Amino acid sequence: MTIDQNLIAKITAEVMARVQAQTGKDSGDGGIFATIDQAVAAARTAQKQLKNLSIEKREELIKAMREAACENAVLLAEMAVKESGMGRVADKILKNQLAARKTPGTEDLRTEAWSGDRGLTLIEMGPYGVIGSITPTTNPSETVICNGIGMIAAGNAVVFSPHPTAKNTSLTTIRILNEAIVKAGGPANLLTAVAEPSLEATNAMMKHPGINMLVATGGPAVVKAVMSSGKKAIGAGAGNPPVIVDETADIEKAAKDIVAGCSFDNNLPCIAEKEVIAVGSIADRLIAHMQRSGAYLISGQDIDRLMKVILTEKEELAASGCTEKPKKEYSINKKYVGKDAKYILSQIGIDVPDTVRAVICETAADHPFVMEELMMPVLPVVQVKDVDEAIELAVKVEHGNRHTAIMHSKNVDNLTRFAKAIETTIFVKNAPSFAGIGVGGEGFITFTIAGPTGEGLTSARSFTRQRRCVLVDALSIV
Ligand code: NAD
Repeated sequence: MTIDQNLIAKITAEVMARVQAQTGKDSGDGGIFATIDQAVAAARTAQKQLKNLSIEKREELIKAMREAACENAVLLAEMAVKESGMGRVADKILKNQLAARKTPGTEDLRTEAWSGDRGLTLIEMGPYGVIGSITPTTNPSETVICNGIGMIAAGNAVVFSPHPTAKNTSLTTIRILNEAIVKAGGPANLLTAVAEPSLEATNAMMKHPGINMLVATGGPAVVKAVMSSGKKAIGAGAGNPPVIVDETADIEKAAKDIVAGCSFDNNLPCIAEKEVIAVGSIADRLIAHMQRSGAYLISGQDIDRLMKVILTEKEELAASGCTEKPKKEYSINKKYVGKDAKYILSQIGIDVPDTVRAVICETAADHPFVMEELMMPVLPVVQVKDVDEAIELAVKVEHGNRHTAIMHSKNVDNLTRFAKAIETTIFVKNAPSFAGIGVGGEGFITFTIAGPTGEGLTSARSFTRQRRCVLVDALSIV
């Protein structure tokens, strides 16, 4: 007999609601409540308690969160892949561990000071209060760990609205982190959520007067929703990162890096390489090296077959009464998002060994594989005549997201020109895309990259308000 997880969660929520109705209170199950009102109220109480603790104590709580996340990195990775049906366990373990270790804590908060004849003026970074954090299905535990650490480091409590398809993984992460905080002597319910996440619950959370700030990590719809909410909002939205390879690059290394980046967690990260734009003179060599690095090349009718599997065609007339041919539009078949290359290839009758990590194919510049954010290890390669054409095309296919771009080149002028033209939040030179969030590159990690609202790679300081404190004619000691 199979047990329906959704049914179990519904029954649990119902039982919790009834117990509450009888007792008149809800202590929450590790931060998980039946209703948004309860989740917000509990987070507000917890935030008041956090405010009364020292920064040193706050850092102790964060240390406990880091340890708990590391200890449970494997469990959460396995849960996420099983529940969402997306990604690779080994890569998700690494993402959980890095989120736990490399997300900045309270050291990220900086005080500015001016001193002089008229005394001392300080600007300090204070908490917002309770933050509503909407999280994606693609990085469910990683985003809760990363945002949880950064938001608490800044002195806030958090009400999470996880994606329903990664509900259990997200709620389990919240419970694990809350348990660690309480064990370390911190308040209960610094992180909360409802037992049954849904679009309705997210909308109720966004409108709730007890929520001071919203942070959306996801696609264009949710970023638009928080930006239209009337509240202070951080929007971390979609990308479609192009990677350019010019004739001066170390082609063998570029091929290896691109396959590693585009197949990491089966291309789920928003920063992952989504299309290759290669200068014609080196394109064949690049493709040959990509094949040696774990990519499987398909061509001709296999590309058409793959299109029919991973994309859904919507035929729409360009305008009513128009005699032109219908404009073709595509949406992604979500069934294949984050799936292994081997599985995707098996759907078009191609059997490959487990060592194959990505599917590559040569396409035209306007092919839907280039234009759509596929989020699966299927990587189109477009040949162009020179670097000028490459830059022009890359800017076009990035769609103005200004998210992430990658370039393999030894020519500083070309690198600079591309970086200036594309204006992305992250620009990676001669490395896999994940170096841009500190994986094999310098710098801290984040899973909330806020291009649309401009905070960039978010950390504790992104979740603060600046507050000025002025003391006149004293405390300047020179
Ligand atoms: P998604 O947009 O479907 O869902 C993200 C979250 O928003 C979920 O919790 C979902 O329930 C909620 N949501 C979706 N539409 C909503 C609406 N209209 N109103 C309120 N809430 C809504 O995205 P996903 O499939 O979970 O994640 C993949 C997408 O997120 C990709 O586009 C990827 O590029 C992007 N992403 C961006 C970042 C970043 O840091 N910029 C990080 C991870 C993912």
